[in-house]
Amino acid sequence: MSTVLVTGASRGIGREIAVAFAEAGHDVAFCFSKDKAGAEETARLIRAAGGEALPFFADVSDEKQVEEMFSALLGLEIVVNNAGISLFSEIAKTSLSDWERVFAVNVRGAFLCTRAAIPKLLKRGGGCIVNVSSMWGEAGASCESAYSASKAALIGFTKAAAKELAPSGIRVNCVAPGIIDTEMNAHLSREEREAFVCENVPLLREGTAGEVARAVLFLAKHPYITGEVLRVNGGAVI
Ligand code: NAD
Repeated sequence: MSTVLVTGASRGIGREIAVAFAEAGHDVAFCFSKDKAGAEETARLIRAAGGEALPFFADVSDEKQVEEMFSALLGLEIVVNNAGISLFSEIAKTSLSDWERVFAVNVRGAFLCTRAAIPKLLKRGGGCIVNVSSMWGEAGASCESAYSASKAALIGFTKAAAKELAPSGIRVNCVAPGIIDTEMNAHLSREEREAFVCENVPLLREGTAGEVARAVLFLAKHPYITGEVLRVNGGAVI
């Protein structure tokens, strides 16, 4: 049995990653911190794709909840640290608690899940981890300093973990998506998104969650790639 864990899969990119792994023949565990109805729909889609679905109600920033989730997982081979939150706020107006919440979910969450995964992956003889960063972690987004900094941290974490864990047979990579059509960008109007794409994305359209999922699957399956940052951004950051 080979189990994949995808964090934050009640909707969006996480859901598409979960379904893609089910289609590839894996059982798929996933967690969500809210939106039970969304999680039920993800579970339904995983089963329809032929996989076993194991939903967990767990906040990735909570050490105890993460440990409990991992202790219930059998046959873990792949972890996708996808759960993330964004924050649109000028630096001068960003509260310390908002800044820390972004880091708690986007960085601490990936650390806690990676730490909990290592003994499970070692038990299996190896495995892999794919983190979901962002092009803003490379390029920086105005008025998204906490988000950009957290996604840059995730790239640093990916590279350090890749070096540390490679001798143990664990590969660690990340994807850096650009503007992807999900509810995370719902605070922007259709016109704002079209204008951004027109000015910044050479391929002249937003990406889809399914296109990010394909990149995650590629990294998860490629035996000789580790420490990589794979851009899925339509050429917005090159
Ligand atoms: P989304 O808001 O649609 O989905 C985020 C998912 O994470 C949801 O299922 C949510 O419940 C879950 N989540 C949030 N906080 C959590 C927590 N504390 N514990 C567990 N689960 C939690 O966002 P999305 O667009 O699907 O983004 C998924 C990932 O891709 C995020 O890490 C995001 O930063 C990254 N990303 C998104 C875009 C984009 O344009 N949409 C671009 C680059 C990177």
